[in-house]
Amino acid sequence: MTDTPIPVTEEDYASYTGSDLKTPFRTTFSSFRLWLFAAMVFVSAMPILGLTIWLERSAVEKEFEAVEQKHLIVAQNLSMALSRYVMDIESFIRSRAEELEAGDRVRLTEAALNDLDIVYVTVLDRYNQIIPEQSQQGGNILLPEQGLIGELRQLADASSGKVAFSGIEKLNGKPHFYVVRKLSDDRLLLAPLSPRYVDQVQKSIAFGVRGHAMIVDARGKVVAHPNPQWQADSKDASKISIVQKMMARETGVAEFYSPPMKADMIAGFTFVPQTGWGVMVPQPTEELVLHAREVQLAGILFGAVEILLAIVVSWWLSSILSNPVSQLVATAKKVSAGNLKARTGFAIQHAPVELRALGNELDSMVDELDQQSAKLSTALAKAEAGSKAKSQFMAMMSHEIRTPVTGVMGLLDILEETRLESDQRGYIDLSRATVNGLLNIVNDILDFSRLDAGTLRIQSTPFDLHALLDEVSSLFLPAAKAKALDLTCEHDELLPEIVTGDLQRTRQILFNIVGNAIKFTDSGSVTVNTRYDPTGPVTGMLTFSVTDTGIGIPKETEDRIFEEFSQGDNSYSRQHEGSGLGLAISRRLVMLMNGEISYESKQGVGTRFNVTIPVKVEQHGND
Ligand code: ADP
Repeated sequence: MTDTPIPVTEEDYASYTGSDLKTPFRTTFSSFRLWLFAAMVFVSAMPILGLTIWLERSAVEKEFEAVEQKHLIVAQNLSMALSRYVMDIESFIRSRAEELEAGDRVRLTEAALNDLDIVYVTVLDRYNQIIPEQSQQGGNILLPEQGLIGELRQLADASSGKVAFSGIEKLNGKPHFYVVRKLSDDRLLLAPLSPRYVDQVQKSIAFGVRGHAMIVDARGKVVAHPNPQWQADSKDASKISIVQKMMARETGVAEFYSPPMKADMIAGFTFVPQTGWGVMVPQPTEELVLHAREVQLAGILFGAVEILLAIVVSWWLSSILSNPVSQLVATAKKVSAGNLKARTGFAIQHAPVELRALGNELDSMVDELDQQSAKLSTALAKAEAGSKAKSQFMAMMSHEIRTPVTGVMGLLDILEETRLESDQRGYIDLSRATVNGLLNIVNDILDFSRLDAGTLRIQSTPFDLHALLDEVSSLFLPAAKAKALDLTCEHDELLPEIVTGDLQRTRQILFNIVGNAIKFTDSGSVTVNTRYDPTGPVTGMLTFSVTDTGIGIPKETEDRIFEEFSQGDNSYSRQHEGSGLGLAISRRLVMLMNGEISYESKQGVGTRFNVTIPVKVEQHGND
């Protein structure tokens, strides 16, 4: 019927249930919320973590791959630029050689030489002397030393008519190449070449922190390098493994240890085909790792932020799911503790639909329970009122009956005083016994009604305990004798004389139990034993044990004998007087006195009733 939650407000809920909606449960290790939260974080964080680890692992690898290609491309580009430059020089020198072979002289402008960084162009005869009429005019021509000229001549011879480039050598103390070409008549065309352009090409490359380019000649001597000293000294780098690869005209990427840089390096390397110069683009591997670390760090940071986000969202989501469950449990707990006004209502308004349905069902159940309980309470109140009215009626009636019965007793007494025949006197005795029995029953009913209505009060006055026991024995002796039973009253020596309690009610209980013992014993004995156990200086427990050798109480009736109007063995009891109220009244009286009543019995052997009641005494024992 009700799909929507019961519309109570947060305040209503708190006043109904006394519960704080926000924190009905603490989050402990075993709580639903923590499990939910852990599962959500696990599920969301695992892929992020995996991604981060993968990113972290592959960053260095990727960096190396990317850099390997880049470095090689740069080296190849440099090599191409140098190659074109070398080709330009070759073609220039070739043209000059052709002019010379045609008998002409070298005719050049300064501009043309400057363009190509050629210092001069000269022609040497077979004695290595300048042939002035063929050589470039003007300018100071400074020849290299004779030994070098010899080597250059050999190079030109070996190149069989082609333009040849020497390795890096000195001219006037500075590094230069020499371009040579063999001419007819053992002449030699000689042109020193400044490595300015090569240097310029090298300088154009700088990347990372220490990434650079290096150019060596075919013998592995440094032509261009960021270190000016190496460059000025034409440092021999032929020992470095990668330089050896370039000298062997190889192209590729390699990692190597650079003693001058004191670092592991990675370099793309190649060579210039015409001259055999090596071109390499190295960078310390440490820089790559550092760059990769930056990527890794960014990845880890990203992962951490993602995980943090996952944690926050999971915590929030887990609360959305677990709070309604906690509220349901809290409400159920309150209901089971007896608070039928507790409802989930407001608490689960925003919960997922299934939980809301569960909450609504619970609310409906509690509604039903509340209504039933209200009905029951009303019925109970009615029943109680009815029972009270009945008790009051019984009390009133027994009171009303007692008056005329007492009147009848008085009349019988008066009648006994008159002159009577002996059989008439016998009738009067019989009438008195009958009226006495009636009076006892009426008194029992009156007592019981008072007990039921809660109007009977226990008195506390000092009385003579020994006198009470004497009264018992003298009252019941005739009845015992009539049945040939031994009635014994015994007590321990320390039994106090005077105790404070309710004499009338103690007597009533004792009379009932002893009366029953005699009533339900056909032969043997009835013993009344009285004990006193001190519990404090002026308080103690008084116990009466009444033991008989009578018929005993059958097991199947033991639950009933303390109930009102109940008689154990009905067939047998029918032979005896009794209302079935005696033990019921005794038990209630003992309870009112804060005492205990119990019995032990064996059918055909006998019964022992024990009554223990608290009393006060003036003094204990011998004091
Ligand atoms: P009644 O008026 O019948 O004596 P009681 O309440 O005093 O009512 O006793 C209830 C029943 O308990 C008796 O009817 C009897 O069956 C059983 N009963 C009580 N005392 C004894 C006893 N000493 N021996 C055997 N049965 C007993």
